[in-house]
Amino acid sequence: MKEHRARKRFGQNFLQDTRIIQDIVNAVRPQPGDTVIEIGPGLAAITAPLAAKLDVLHVVEIDRDIVARLQKLPFANKLVIHQGDVLQFDFASVPGKKKIVGNLPYNISTPLLFRFSEVVSDIIDMHFMLQKEVVERMVAAPKSNDYGRLSVMLQYFFDMECLIDVPPEAFDPAPKVDSAVVRMIPQAGRIGTAHDFTHFARLVKQAFAQRRKTIRNNLKDIATDADLLAVGIDPQHRPEHIEPQLYVALSNLLLHNAA
Ligand code: SAM
Repeated sequence: MKEHRARKRFGQNFLQDTRIIQDIVNAVRPQPGDTVIEIGPGLAAITAPLAAKLDVLHVVEIDRDIVARLQKLPFANKLVIHQGDVLQFDFASVPGKKKIVGNLPYNISTPLLFRFSEVVSDIIDMHFMLQKEVVERMVAAPKSNDYGRLSVMLQYFFDMECLIDVPPEAFDPAPKVDSAVVRMIPQAGRIGTAHDFTHFARLVKQAFAQRRKTIRNNLKDIATDADLLAVGIDPQHRPEHIEPQLYVALSNLLLHNAA
């Protein structure tokens, strides 16, 4: 097959380290009969070993040249190829509970991660290669430098774990940053349920607007000290000291007060 020249605008860095490819497949644990969607199959580094273990593999790929290559692969009969932008892809169009996998294009990783919250009840688990710095922020616990809005918003939906550290040399071309593989499993209500998700999301955004300020200052126009204390938040603490469940509780209290 003709060589494919990596396209920067599609974030194309192709995995070439066979040990890491195997580690990812082992982490996903594909079983025949599973419904698996791979995002951005590229030159099929993960696609091939996944397809070998599955009856069917859905792939979502934006690059037409890559789609044409995928169609010629010896195992193409196992692939259901969805050509297009994954940010527009209707995950609910693939029926059943799904496992989602991908070495994601890093330039769209944050908006993409938030799209999964829309289909969370349909997801068994997800395994993604991402920029390591992003994974560190996703899994960060309160009181650490990496803990912020992304941690709170994703931990609301998912239990997450960093599984594999991946150096730039594992890819061709090598990206400028370190990467890591994260496992995300939907979690139901461990940190509470926001009665109004939009309100909760807005509250968290405002809480972290200025990290170096106290929570009292960041939220001064929407919450009193009494509101904060009522859910167990010390008004003098900074936003990064406050656990996700306390943001959920505060959002629910403020809504209740306003009702
Ligand atoms: N999975 C392959 C691997 O590990 O070698 C390729 C990974 S490469 C980092 C990202 C892949 O996602 C490329 O195949 C790229 O064309 C594709 N891609 C980029 N942006 C996309 C988008 N918006 N929707 C779907 N696929 C996209």
